[in-house]
Amino acid sequence: MVIGAGVGGLAAALELTKAGHKVSLFEAGPVLGGQVRTFEVGGGRIESFYHHLFRSDTDAIELIEQLGLGDDLEWIDSTVALQVGERRYPFVSALDLLRFGAVSLLTRVRLGLAALWLRRLKAWQRYEGQRASDWIRSRTGREGYERVWGPLLRAKFGDHAEEVSMVWFWGKVHLRFASRPGGPLAREQLGYLRGSFGRLVDAMVEAVQATGATAEVASPVRRVLVEDGRVTGVAVGFGVPGGGEDDGPERIVPCDAVIATIPSDAFRRMVPDLEAGYAALLEGVQYQWATVLALALARPLSETYWLTLTDDDCPFVVAVEQTNFVSPQRYGGQHIVYLSNYCDPGAPIIEEEAEQTLERYLPYIRRINPDFNRSWVRGVWLFRDRAGQPIVHERYHETIAPHRTPIEGLYLANTTQIYPEDRGQNYSIRMGRRVARLALADAADGAGQADAADTASAGTR
Ligand SMILES: Cc1cc2nc3c(=O)[nH]c(=O)nc-3n(C[C@H](O)[C@H](O)[C@H](O)COP(=O)(O)OP(=O)(O)OC[C@H]3O[C@@H](n4cnc5c(N)ncnc54)[C@H](O)[C@@H]3O)c2cc1C
Repeated sequence: MVIGAGVGGLAAALELTKAGHKVSLFEAGPVLGGQVRTFEVGGGRIESFYHHLFRSDTDAIELIEQLGLGDDLEWIDSTVALQVGERRYPFVSALDLLRFGAVSLLTRVRLGLAALWLRRLKAWQRYEGQRASDWIRSRTGREGYERVWGPLLRAKFGDHAEEVSMVWFWGKVHLRFASRPGGPLAREQLGYLRGSFGRLVDAMVEAVQATGATAEVASPVRRVLVEDGRVTGVAVGFGVPGGGEDDGPERIVPCDAVIATIPSDAFRRMVPDLEAGYAALLEGVQYQWATVLALALARPLSETYWLTLTDDDCPFVVAVEQTNFVSPQRYGGQHIVYLSNYCDPGAPIIEEEAEQTLERYLPYIRRINPDFNRSWVRGVWLFRDRAGQPIVHERYHETIAPHRTPIEGLYLANTTQIYPEDRGQNYSIRMGRRVARLALADAADGAGQADAADTASAGTR
């Protein structure tokens, strides 16, 4: 059985069905896909949270090909820029760094050398226990941190930016450069699935269902049932959580193994009788909410796909203009912009309606384009995910829960276990498959062999 139908849960289910197992997949939300869920705009389908692939995302690329979608995976030149006050600085090629007039020439050179160093370095383990903020300041000076990389860390981790592990930062820079097969001076290309990554989700669901497996939405698992230290089944509710049926009737579904791909705190609540050490690892996890205000506009906002905003007062940190990546014709001629931020649970946006957030964002949208007018807005949506980004602090490596839990037959495969890379579709797919293989090997009484496979593999813990 698999709990959670994001790409991680679907990949696990696919692997189990390939081995001939009967799989039931339960998803709490109203749709399948998790963080890769989509919506319709102007007759086209698009992700609720912006998505692209890097060339280094080999597991995702391979799966797309295996599912017959390879011809629709497009590699597109990306346009990246940094906004400082009213000015926008393109960062399309490494040479743009030398033209980045917002910092001194010395800082530009230091930034370039630091990036080249991280690109070449493979032994990331040396950075465990170190903070990215300390490393960046020591290599690029105060200016390099405050004006360039500090804002990028704050973009993901908000008030926790100072604590972020150097390993996380290494992964970000190293893999980003790997997306430039022509070397660091080449232009970056990003991958996009024509018709949205929702098609990958659909293809995975179809492949799973073709084997007779079931995938049910609005079916939140409430408890994992355990007897004599091993899994015996799950209790599943009816209806989307928060929809007023949280304590209502439930059904018991027996099974002999469970792979949970849900956030750590939800998993902790679902399994009350966990051994204290493992429970403490789950309880120690901190997530940032991911929030995205998506706008459909009558006109383009900028000329950039990925625009990072460095001003401290700006309430969103990245503006991702999808239609500077693919054509607006895909969305009925409308221009789609995501205004994104990651924040703590107490932030105002957690309780707001989309229109309220838009109202608050208006003056800052005008910083990107002074001509912007409210009348350009044809549609507005607010998407949130409470487990958007685990906070990867400097001692993170000591706190990652193993996939195999102390309860026999119970496994965890969620985004907190992706390490040293940043979370992404690729790594959830890789992890889902790997944990399914671990469960299969355990079931075949090959625990020793599975242990070796689990610990030898980089990418997830
Ligand atoms: C803003 C944003 C932008 C991103 N951009 C990119 C990108 O450009 N490229 C990229 O590759 N990746 C990107 N990602 C990351 C990527 O989407 C995720 O890493 C990946 O989709 C996670 O998949 P998952 O299956 O591990 O988890 P999830 O997608 O979170 O799936 C977990 C599922 O479990 C369900 N669940 C929770 N509790 C229960 C319960 N009790 N019972 C049943 N089901 C339950 C949830 O509803 C959810 O559907 C982005 C993510 C965000 C938030």
